[in-house]
Amino acid sequence: MHSGQQKMWSKCIPFVRVSCDGNELAYVREVLESGWLTTASKAQEFERRFAQEVGTRFAIAVNSCTSALHLGLEAMGVGPGDKVLVPTMTFTASAEVVRYLDADPVFLDVEYGSSLITPEIVAEGIDRHPDAKALIVVHFAGQSARMLSQDGPGILEVCRQRGLKVLEDAAHAFPTRCGERMVGGLGDATCFSFYANKTITTGEGGMLTTDDEAIAARARVMRLHGIDRDVWSRFTAEKPSWEYDVIAPGYKYNMPDINAAIGLAQLERAWSMRDQRQRCATHYLQRLAELEAVDPPLVHVPPEDHAWHLFVLTVKPQARVNRGRLIELLAARGIGTSVPYRPLHRMSYYRDRYQLKAEEFPQAERIWRGCVALPLYPTLSDDEIDYICNSLYELLG
Ligand SMILES: *Cc1c(COP(=O)(O)O)cnc(C)c1O
Repeated sequence: MHSGQQKMWSKCIPFVRVSCDGNELAYVREVLESGWLTTASKAQEFERRFAQEVGTRFAIAVNSCTSALHLGLEAMGVGPGDKVLVPTMTFTASAEVVRYLDADPVFLDVEYGSSLITPEIVAEGIDRHPDAKALIVVHFAGQSARMLSQDGPGILEVCRQRGLKVLEDAAHAFPTRCGERMVGGLGDATCFSFYANKTITTGEGGMLTTDDEAIAARARVMRLHGIDRDVWSRFTAEKPSWEYDVIAPGYKYNMPDINAAIGLAQLERAWSMRDQRQRCATHYLQRLAELEAVDPPLVHVPPEDHAWHLFVLTVKPQARVNRGRLIELLAARGIGTSVPYRPLHRMSYYRDRYQLKAEEFPQAERIWRGCVALPLYPTLSDDEIDYICNSLYELLG
């Protein structure tokens, strides 16, 4: 029950609140005092711990998830003229990296309610484009797509049978389980984001994880100017340390130790922060169960397996106010929201370049017309969630 206008207008619930109240400051101080601010021992330690957490052989720290996606595709051999399947309901980074390599994204529709691609959607995409070289999977909102076989083939099996590489965009999905395993060690390579609004942050940052030695080696070289350090250390150990070789025109994608220090502190609290977000999501789901005007997020996994990065409602077409108006009215009550995402087939660059029609993406269109993400972070209190839910009932009920 809400407690009148006066109290109502005094609330301020931002869409994102960053939680940096662990060892972040202490670890950053260590870096500053060490005098070594770029990539060194903290980045290495962050890689080691992250690999342990997701259960992969290799983890390669970089300066963004976008960089990780670029490195992953490059290491898989995607090049000019290749086709890469990408869901339309994602951030532009998932598709722009395909263009970096002069390859072409082929957009897939998604499942209504979850915004995930399914094995069926992938199989149909491959039927339409049998020459596709790779698939990018987005674990939307922090829920794993159906990667593993269970009552039918999973996405990995579909792709393996048809010869496609699988790169996972797990920008929303840490920590996320898929069955008994963690997202990070499923496909050929997986990319994580530590951007400020993600489930754990380094300010800006990303990670590429893989069990594939060749992908790891290539990504490591390309991460830092194409300098082949392995060759250098193996064959020229007796040479002076200033000597190195460049074997490709690489990139400048390394993660500085300052950022890795923040990441190490965040990693310590990744699971407890996830638990808090689950508390929020469970509370929302209970409170909003009777709100006819919206569809709640479709969840296929046990709540413990979900990273709960986003809580996305879809406002139904027959609702009293539409999505745009709802966002304004919530903002007037001090409630921040977001719209993830305007699908890529509606972005002028992709739409015009590939002559995309909205009718080809019926489920993404349904989502797009109504989707709105509510605040979801560890420090969101039950009272704040009640206030948000009461507001939704008042505006839509
Ligand atoms: C945030 C995000 C990215 C990009 O992450 P950066 O670390 O900012 O490069 C990529 N894909 C998805 C789905 C995202 O949400």
